[in-house]
Amino acid sequence: MEIFESDVVIIGGGPAGCTCALYTSRANLKTIILDKNPSVGALAITHQIANYPGVPVDISGEKLLDLMREQAIEYGTDYRRAQVFGIDVSGEWKTVYTPEGTFKGKSLVLASGAMGRPASFKGEADFLGRGVSYCATCDGAFYKGREVAVIGANKEAIEEANVLTKFASTVHWITSSDPKSDNEEAMELMQLSNVKHWSRTRLLEIAGDDMGVNNITVKNKQEEQPIKLALEGVFVYMSGSKPITDFVGDQIALKEDGGVIVDDFMSTNSEGVWAIGDIRNTPFKQAVVAASDGCIAAMSIDRYLNSRKNIRVDWIHS
Ligand SMILES: Cc1cc2nc3c(=O)[nH]c(=O)nc-3n(C[C@H](O)[C@H](O)[C@H](O)COP(=O)(O)OP(=O)(O)OC[C@H]3O[C@@H](n4cnc5c(N)ncnc54)[C@H](O)[C@@H]3O)c2cc1C
Repeated sequence: MEIFESDVVIIGGGPAGCTCALYTSRANLKTIILDKNPSVGALAITHQIANYPGVPVDISGEKLLDLMREQAIEYGTDYRRAQVFGIDVSGEWKTVYTPEGTFKGKSLVLASGAMGRPASFKGEADFLGRGVSYCATCDGAFYKGREVAVIGANKEAIEEANVLTKFASTVHWITSSDPKSDNEEAMELMQLSNVKHWSRTRLLEIAGDDMGVNNITVKNKQEEQPIKLALEGVFVYMSGSKPITDFVGDQIALKEDGGVIVDDFMSTNSEGVWAIGDIRNTPFKQAVVAASDGCIAAMSIDRYLNSRKNIRVDWIHS
C-alpha cells in the first residue's frame, strides 16, 4: 500500500479541518485533508447558514463548505476523499490508515466532527466489526456475492448502498420513510437489479452467532408480523451527534461524553496530535467555533514543527 508523507495530516474536511488546512498551507506546511465525504458533515447538511460572519445570510452550509475547501486547496492543501479507519500516534510520525493508502504526518489533526451515531439498534454494538459496519468503502469487498442490508435514507446511506451494489448479491435497503420522487440518487439506486427496497420498514434487531451477523428482523408499517432476513452484513447510516472517534481506539484521552480532551492550543494528551471542532463535544457547536479551533491548532502546529525541523522518517529500513 502506498505511503504518503506530509507535515500535517487532517482527518475531516468540515469547517474545522478546512480552516486548519488554510492556515497550515499558508504557513508553507505540506498539508493533506482526508475527508470521508464532503456532503455528510454537520455543516454540509445545514440547509441555510445565516450566522457565519461575512457571508450572505441565504448561503447553504454545503456552499459555504465548498468555499472553505476551495480556499484551502488554492493555498496548496491536498484534499482527498478517504475514510480513515485507524491511526497510530505512538511514533514521532503519526500514521493514518485508509483504504486509499497510508498517510504519515509530522503532526495529526482530528477534525471528524460529531455526526457519529450511538449504537441504536438491538445487536448493533454486539456485532460491530463482525457484520455491522459504517463504511461500505472500507468493508464492502468482504461481502462479495453475499446479502447485506443498508439502514437509513440519507445521502450517505444512498451513496454507500451504491458502493455495496458492486459487491453484494443483494442489497436490502431499509428505510422507515419513502425517499421523495425528486431524489434522483435514490431513484437510480432503486432501479438497480440487486437492490431490494424495503419501504416504510424499521430495523428491529441484528442477530447472529460467533461467526458474526446471520440475520436481521425488520417490521413493515403495514404488516402485522416482523420479517426475518438472512444476510451477513448490516451497514447503518442513521444520523446522530456523537463525536466520531471510532478510528482512535484508546490512543487519545476522551471525556466521559466522548469528546476529545484538549488544552488551550487544541493539543490532545498525545504529543503531535490536535483535535478541533465538534469532535471536542463542546457545548456550543457552531461553524464559527469549529473554524476558530482550526486556526488555533494551525498556529500551534506551526510553532511545534518549527521547533522540530529535523524529524526523520522512521519507517524506511534500508
Ligand atoms: C442540522 C444542523 C444545523 C446547523 N446549523 C448551524 C448554523 O446555522 N450555524 C452554525 O454556525 N452552525 C450550525 N451547525 C453546527 C455546525 O455545522 C458544526 O458545529 C460544524 O459543522 C462542526 O464542524 P466540524 O468541522 O467539527 O465537523 P463537520 O462539519 O461535521 O465535518 C466533519 C467532516 O469529517 C468527515 N469525517 C468523519 N469521519 C471521518 C473519517 N473516519 N475519515 C475521514 N473523514 C471523516 C466528515 O465527512 C465531514 O466532512 C449545525 C449543525 C447541524 C447538524
